Amino acid sequence: MNILFLGPPGSGKGTQAQNLSSYLKIPTLSSGDILRKECDSGSQLGKEIQIIMNKGDLVSDDLIVLLIEKFLIKNDSNGFILDGFPRNINQANILDSMLIKIEKSIEKVFNFEVDDEILVKRILGRYSCKECGSIYNNYFKPTVNSGVCDKCGSTNFESRKDDNEESLKNRLSVYHKSTFPLVEFYQKKHLLISIDGLKSSSLIFEELKKHFKL
Ligand code: AMP
Repeated sequence: MNILFLGPPGSGKGTQAQNLSSYLKIPTLSSGDILRKECDSGSQLGKEIQIIMNKGDLVSDDLIVLLIEKFLIKNDSNGFILDGFPRNINQANILDSMLIKIEKSIEKVFNFEVDDEILVKRILGRYSCKECGSIYNNYFKPTVNSGVCDKCGSTNFESRKDDNEESLKNRLSVYHKSTFPLVEFYQKKHLLISIDGLKSSSLIFEELKKHFKL
């Protein structure tokens, strides 16, 4: 089962991609995560990527395609979930050609729908524990005791470098201009399944599971 997760930043697709990945026992590849890993490595390429990500722009199609291609060729599981790729029509066309070469195809595309107003609160409010990675939100899910992680008791927290007002404004405008046209692209291929991203995380996961027979 080869699956794509589409949706604006903060729509919850990353969390659900991980949930579904454990459930279906197939790997998930988040394009944002592989780029952040490169940034953390301190390489020259990573420094260049970081500048682009901080602004909320997309990195070049050539670069991201190279990273995704490596993953697809190496992947020998019974499927995969791509989260955050493709991000524009050109990437989607390149993905189609790559899949033809390796004799695979996309079977389902889940599109997470959430209004911009909610996305802003979700993203600007989000932070995570530096020790155990638990995710919180100032508006929707604060820690029970202020400044203390519910799970591990740590008082060290961090936010993503691109989760600030200026970058978010650009990320949302890039989403509407470049990524949203993919909804129609996959609708025409009869692959699109809409998900109401305003529902609770557990309800969304239950809904996703219904699309698979294990
Ligand atoms: P995400 O974690 O999916 O929100 O992605 C964070 C950032 O990584 C984006 O704002 C882009 O700068 C970059 N990025 C992630 N996926 C892609 C992609 N498929 N194409 C270009 N840039 C990407």
